[in-house]
Amino acid sequence: TRYIGDWSSDVCSSDLEVSRCFKTNSIIMPTFPQYLTPAQEDELRQIANAIVAPGKGILAADESTGTIGKRFASIKIENSEENRRRYRELLFTSDKVVAQNISGVILFHETLYQSTREGTPFVKVLKEKGIIPGIKVDKGVVPLAGTDGESTTQGLDGLAERCAQYKKDGASFAKWRCVLKIGAETPSYQAMMENANVLARYASICQQNGLVPIVEPEVLCDGEHDLWTAQKVTEQVLAFTYKALADHHVYLEGTLLKPNMVTAGQSCSQKFSAEENAKATVQALSRTVPAAVPGITFLSGGQSEEDSTLNLNAINVAPGSKPWALTFSFGRALQASVLKAWQGKEENVKAAQDQLITRAKANGLAAMGKYAGGASGDAA
Ligand code: 13P
Repeated sequence: TRYIGDWSSDVCSSDLEVSRCFKTNSIIMPTFPQYLTPAQEDELRQIANAIVAPGKGILAADESTGTIGKRFASIKIENSEENRRRYRELLFTSDKVVAQNISGVILFHETLYQSTREGTPFVKVLKEKGIIPGIKVDKGVVPLAGTDGESTTQGLDGLAERCAQYKKDGASFAKWRCVLKIGAETPSYQAMMENANVLARYASICQQNGLVPIVEPEVLCDGEHDLWTAQKVTEQVLAFTYKALADHHVYLEGTLLKPNMVTAGQSCSQKFSAEENAKATVQALSRTVPAAVPGITFLSGGQSEEDSTLNLNAINVAPGSKPWALTFSFGRALQASVLKAWQGKEENVKAAQDQLITRAKANGLAAMGKYAGGASGDAA
């Protein structure tokens, strides 16, 4: 039974059509059929909740071939397929203690199908540790014509088929990253609208194929803007994002949000404390992210390892309404010390894995508001 608006006899010529549409202030509204079965919703919700279990977060190891090349260049390692495989093997074969703090790993397409030197698929290695494999499904940012250097993210064509295949091949969640930048005239209405919509389409397609979508609208920290500006822009971007997710009937309990922490631009002359960043972050999120979302898994966005961890801890102890788990999905802030310790050498593998365990533990504590600082390693 629907009580909103008047039934529209002029557009609905049969009982069937009347049951499919109704009219509110002359806007034809759709009805709301069950998009997912209860079993599909249960599965998505369980995956999302497992990822953000207390003291756990995500290792984002889904650098594209180009991006991992930049990371390797910093330690003068050739960006070959074998070196990428060796490096990911190092990460995924760390002692199982790492699974106390890492619940999920985001993989790049190539990595999902790679194996250890002995031939064990990485997906199997992760699952045996109790770590959930995830997959980056976007195909990167592209310029958005008509804007001042803004972007959208491509990859919707064929996405349903790719998601179905990834699910069969062992992935349980996905990531899609959109990027917004703060400038005098940006982000534009056009960019916020477009990126929110593409994230919603991606999320809907993932859910139909059994993958929990991690929705990532990253507001970059490049620029001279202050903390207040970062907060206002983040609020606006998230408001656009959740409007689009609602418009596309995305099942929020089976999603995760991967936002930037609210911090001043990296070139801002004024410095802000972790407590100030945390207050701005919690305020922005509490104003825009529905309580139905089970967890928020922050990106590190170029902050140092220790700054990322201290900010995450401050966010968890900050006062305010926080109905979601607040944890990490760090790339650089979990890997900078690892890469530095490794240097591409077999004899350094154990030392590099120890760095990963150290940072994972520190971030696991921060996700519970229990990190006191001082974890070793901070090469970022
Ligand atoms: P950083 O933590 O290095 O920002 O990377 C996380 C990520 O996955 C960005 O899409």
